[in-house]
Amino acid sequence: EIILEGRGLTRRYKTDTGQTLTACRGVDLTLHKGKTLGIVGESGCGKSTLLRMVTQLEQPDEGRLFYFGKDITSLKGEELRKNRRHIQMVFQDSSAAFFPRMKVSEAVSEPLRNFKRLSQREVDRQVSKLLELVELPESFSERYPHSMSGGQRQRLGIARALALNPDVLVCDEATSALDVSVQQRIIQLLAEIQRERKLSMIFVCHDLALVQSMSHQIMVMYLGGVVESLPGNQMWERA
Ligand code: ADP
Ligand code: ADP
Repeated sequence: EIILEGRGLTRRYKTDTGQTLTACRGVDLTLHKGKTLGIVGESGCGKSTLLRMVTQLEQPDEGRLFYFGKDITSLKGEELRKNRRHIQMVFQDSSAAFFPRMKVSEAVSEPLRNFKRLSQREVDRQVSKLLELVELPESFSERYPHSMSGGQRQRLGIARALALNPDVLVCDEATSALDVSVQQRIIQLLAEIQRERKLSMIFVCHDLALVQSMSHQIMVMYLGGVVESLPGNQMWERA
């Protein structure tokens, strides 16, 4: 079953010198339910631009985006807000970058409070469950990101992203800032959560071997376009 589909996604920017730069050109993308789509390519090839379109932070200049077969390219207002709940992101060191002054419990409960009417008791219960899911001890509830290790901060970022039970988790260089051993543990955690929740993932990273180890399908981007699209293991054999 196809959960997310992009057809001919194109995005242009004006450069400082007044020229037009095509950051993404005619990108096709297919994400199947419960699978991981890997995206690799050197910096500047258009990965972030593509993700901004897929997560509906920006609309494409050309092309369409479908969610369970429904055209969501031009959603606005409340409809857009509702749909964006289903697609959540984890960034490189999200917690330090986006919610440095929130306690762990606040960072995880904020999306729940913003989107759902829940009693304090129910919020507390869900926060506990999310911390357990990412294997952060309950005692971390009162801590701030700056007092935690890089791996712990990523666990927090993952817990927050999963708070609203999204269908798609987009990981943008989510493990790139971590030591190799910590990176492996976070990858393992993501794989477990994916299995458990039938989560679909887009895993973006500049490390080919890592993307391969995560992905069912890989897209290689170069200068705004997709230059290769391969099953995960095929890429590994080639490399
Ligand atoms: P960054 O600047 O983001 O660190 P790099 O230039 O180091 O990215 O590239 C990351 C990896 O992706 C390298 O191993 C590179 O060989 C690979 N890569 C980038 N573009 C392509 C491509 N078009 N085809 C195959 N491999 C690519
Ligand atoms: P990546 O994530 O693979 O590093 P990006 O999507 O960030 O690539 O960038 C692709 C190209 O688009 C780059 O040449 C970048 O400079 C350009 N670009 C990205 N965002 C903007 C923007 N808001 N305005 C102008 N140019 C942009």
